[in-house]
Amino acid sequence: MFLELRQLDIQYPGSRTPAVQGVNLSLQAGDIGVLIGPSGCGKTTLLRAVAGLEPVSGGQILLSGRMVSEKNHTEPAERRRIGMVFQDYALFPHMDVGSNVGFGLAHLSKPERQQRVAEVLTLVGLDGSDKRFPHELSGGQQQRVALARALAPKPDLLLLDEPFSNLDVDLRERLAHEVRNILKAAQATALLVTHDQLEAFAIGDVIGVMNHGHLHQWDDAYSLYHRPATRFVADFIGHGVFTPATLREVDGHVWVSTPVGELRDVAECPLPCAFEGGQCDVLLRADDIVHDDDAPVKAQIVRKAFRGSEFLYTLRLATGEQLMAHVPSHHDHKLGEWIGIRAEVDHVVTFNRSCPVNDRELCQMPCAKASACEHTEPQYQPVKFD
Ligand code: ADP
Repeated sequence: MFLELRQLDIQYPGSRTPAVQGVNLSLQAGDIGVLIGPSGCGKTTLLRAVAGLEPVSGGQILLSGRMVSEKNHTEPAERRRIGMVFQDYALFPHMDVGSNVGFGLAHLSKPERQQRVAEVLTLVGLDGSDKRFPHELSGGQQQRVALARALAPKPDLLLLDEPFSNLDVDLRERLAHEVRNILKAAQATALLVTHDQLEAFAIGDVIGVMNHGHLHQWDDAYSLYHRPATRFVADFIGHGVFTPATLREVDGHVWVSTPVGELRDVAECPLPCAFEGGQCDVLLRADDIVHDDDAPVKAQIVRKAFRGSEFLYTLRLATGEQLMAHVPSHHDHKLGEWIGIRAEVDHVVTFNRSCPVNDRELCQMPCAKASACEHTEPQYQPVKFD
């Protein structure tokens, strides 16, 4: 394991609540980890602690098995062999690209330095740009220079703090893919912070979702989307709603009654006895709801957002339940119109209904993975928030 955080707590002096609380995660060499979450959730604080720029108040940070941070001990940043890329590029404006990239290579001879600069500029697709100045480059090019500069000394770990946030949206996602390829070609281990899901999915091998200093889930993108560990993750990643449902066993199969109809033969469904009276909440994603005018269930369009190839409709059933649906953009219905819908769900994600729906923080959800009746304990463990 290359980077390991164990029960990490970080509390700023004078602050009443920790900015980071009880975080455990590990990153393998060569992997790209991404921390995502709303503003103020503790991403940057955590990244700075890994860099050695912020002391920790509890737990440990290990780099290649070496303990570099714990309470009352912070190995200085310059000894950690870590490279950093920030959102504002922080290039030296009066230095040309070659000098910017070669800045951390003072220990090399001039020919070695020139060779390494040329190597990393080629890696980031800017070969031959060494005599240009930062102001002659586009934002995306400047960010690639910043990346080349961070990669040049061959750091053991690269930390990237919102590296694309100063770029426009189209460029951001493209550059995220490019940066992933560059990091993979350099065989770099990296931890990146962003608040943008598309960016996180484009770049990360493993993604951590944070809120209020807690890491809710550290997993691959597929699992975050399809097997969210908490209501917060379910709500934060993708579009969907929690809807009341009842599980019952019919001929050895579990059927799930939802306001959009009965779901049968769904994978990963817990047995009804996992919830009192089989009553739970089910996550219905916008992709789980299909527009079908022949369907007996009708819903009214209360909101719609155009997203190029599709609309994201917010729908209301006659019972008052709200749903979301991705609908191809040639199905252009008017607000207020009633359309037919049905649910197409491969596997269900269930939540204990006793969790207050609006209090996402309080619920964790091993429920979806429950598959047998031996659970006598409640199906979720409330996280302790002070
Ligand atoms: P994020 O990067 O997810 O936006 P931060 O790590 O910057 O979040 O902040 C986490 C929490 O710590 C926030 O409540 C923020 O106000 C607080 N915080 C950040 N920096 C400091 C600081 N230097 N002193 C005190 N509190 C801070």
